[in-house]
Amino acid sequence: MPHGFFFQRVMAYGPVEIGTDHNREGRNCYTAACTTDGCGWSGDFNTYSGACMAAKGHHCQIR
Ligand SMILES: [Zn+2]
Repeated sequence: MPHGFFFQRVMAYGPVEIGTDHNREGRNCYTAACTTDGCGWSGDFNTYSGACMAAKGHHCQIR
């Protein structure tokens, strides 16, 4: 594992990107983050399916 850049993009649903990350305990977790300017929505999930569900369910407040 390379150090210094933990977020690795693995999937994207529209503007929402899902990547793998590590939490403080060094365990894999999944981060979903919206890339739309001004949205700033993001979340951490223990499972990939959880991140996918959140990404699919996310609707930007900003248009
Ligand atoms: Zn958004």
